[in-house]
Amino acid sequence: MDQMSNFDDLESQVRYYCRQTPNMFVTARGASVWDAQGNEFTDFLSGCGSLNLGHNPPGIKAALIRYLEADGIGNALDFHTAAKCKFIQCFHDHVLAPRKLPHLMQFTGPTGANCVEAAIKLSRKHTGRRTIVAFTNAFHGMSMGALSATGSRKARRGLEGHLDGIVRLPFEGYREAGIGELERFAAMASDPSGGIDPIAAIIVEAVQGEGGLNVASDAWLQRLRRIATDLGALLIVDDVQAGCARTGRFFSFERSGIVPDLVCLSKSISGMGLPMALLLVAPKFDTWIPGEHSGTFRGNSLAFVAATKAVGHFTDPDFVSGISIRSAILDRWLLEMVSAFPQAIDRHKGIGMMAGLEFKDPTCAAAVAAGARERRLLIETCGPDDQVIKVFAPLNIDVVQFADGLRRLHATIETVCAPRIGMKAA
Ligand SMILES: *Cc1c(COP(=O)(O)O)cnc(C)c1O
Repeated sequence: MDQMSNFDDLESQVRYYCRQTPNMFVTARGASVWDAQGNEFTDFLSGCGSLNLGHNPPGIKAALIRYLEADGIGNALDFHTAAKCKFIQCFHDHVLAPRKLPHLMQFTGPTGANCVEAAIKLSRKHTGRRTIVAFTNAFHGMSMGALSATGSRKARRGLEGHLDGIVRLPFEGYREAGIGELERFAAMASDPSGGIDPIAAIIVEAVQGEGGLNVASDAWLQRLRRIATDLGALLIVDDVQAGCARTGRFFSFERSGIVPDLVCLSKSISGMGLPMALLLVAPKFDTWIPGEHSGTFRGNSLAFVAATKAVGHFTDPDFVSGISIRSAILDRWLLEMVSAFPQAIDRHKGIGMMAGLEFKDPTCAAAVAAGARERRLLIETCGPDDQVIKVFAPLNIDVVQFADGLRRLHATIETVCAPRIGMKAA
């Protein structure tokens, strides 16, 4: 197709997802995406978690159309707008108040990375310290501060030596690491001869998305909370990917009962992919001076309109029980795969609707993702060696479509892995 050469000729080499999936996508609804030839794909990627309510959810779409028809104000910097006012009220009433979270809302530039930058910057400013603790396999975004906290060598490539101010600790489960490693670090950091600079903040994902669907236990998170307090450091939870009901509850850390000092939210706040980011700041740490973390697109009113509707969905009991139903379907399927293909699959990983399969051989995972695309299923891999197939369907995916997608994935695993490991396809 002639138009395809536009991308090769006119767009930067940096593009990525389109290399495996060169289709020209045109329309999308719910968990379905159609290309220019009219092929329908089931979306098990959900814009990396930015489409938790699927593509063009009808209620949000209607609210956006109404807003535009009425000439609702568009970008408004951080002026007061009716759209933002409604969102703030709704987020307070449905998310913060029921969880007794006293946090203030800071709207940052509309990306996860900018939200992480704001969190790191505020921690350093507030404490007057520089060092941030971050974990193995962490992903926090691609801008300088966020990238320094990120673990992946592939992401850091080209900037080694410029990404400093970080102490790296093993995430729970990394080479069997657990609470013991946290305790040893805490002892070193509080030892006058431990050689660790004072810590400004600890940044953590309660469930690592890009890093391989690694789930921190409640006990580990609780210990981390205590250590941050003891060290006089802020605890930042990066809930950019795992937040907005992806794990079944609005926040991924809720299950552990911890209260972070700062929480980063972005990808799915608007539910349907409109850019927006929100840093939740415990009141005593809100020591910004006006304008100290400004950003042109902090007032994306369309995102506020969508997010107001989305938050209503994420906290609606029927919607929440729908997530459990789908998580149970996924869980059962994952266990089935682990027992059906023990030579190919190591284990199942993740929690709620962010779960997947770890393959023994990363090339096998890559081949499954490629084979699934041929069966019109959009799916990606994650983890340090891209060895984990990540099932990331919209949280409200039609259960029949969900089961059908999982069947296609099963068939793909069977055809791809069986010959590689000398198994007879069942
Ligand atoms: C995607 C992601 C980010 C970065 O968000 P961008 O919008 O891509 O800048 C940060 N943290 C986590 C956990 C993410 O998954």
